Amino acid sequence: MKLRVKDYKSVPIVVSENTSVYDSIVALFVNDVGTLFVVSDQGILEGVVSRKDLLKTALGKIDVNQLPVSIIMTRMPNIVTTTPEESLWTAARKLISHEIDALPVVRRLANSQEDKFEVIGRVSKTNITKVFVDLGLGRLEFF
Ligand code: ADP
Repeated sequence: MKLRVKDYKSVPIVVSENTSVYDSIVALFVNDVGTLFVVSDQGILEGVVSRKDLLKTALGKIDVNQLPVSIIMTRMPNIVTTTPEESLWTAARKLISHEIDALPVVRRLANSQEDKFEVIGRVSKTNITKVFVDLGLGRLEFF
């Protein structure tokens, strides 16, 4: 609970809303991640697309080169997020309770009327597992 998201987050892998499902699958492989965050031209978080979202679409008869990822993504405001100052334990709890693999680390855009969030990181089950292993090895100092 003393560990903060900001100290353990990874770089977020983002695609734009008009990226095709095909190119999104390529991005998943090239960046070796399981979850992509979908952002607007202004870099605002619009959605999340997972391995199985893409797999399901690829199994159908739709042309994945023509289909934009925005059609199949899970959209805001239904995205579960975390913030740099949140505890890593709270983030881990969100992953478990929502049965998802990754959370975007976000910063709320100042001067915005609606809730708009910039994506500044990623916390996945891998980040949590690494910390768990380091704790077991006595490698983490958190007092
Ligand atoms: P997979 O679908 O590959 O098992 P997940 O368990 O992470 O991967 O995703 C399950 C579903 O939840 C998918 O439809 C995905 O779009 C959605 N999802 C993934 N991450 C989030 C998140 N942070 N907030 C809301 N929905 C999410």
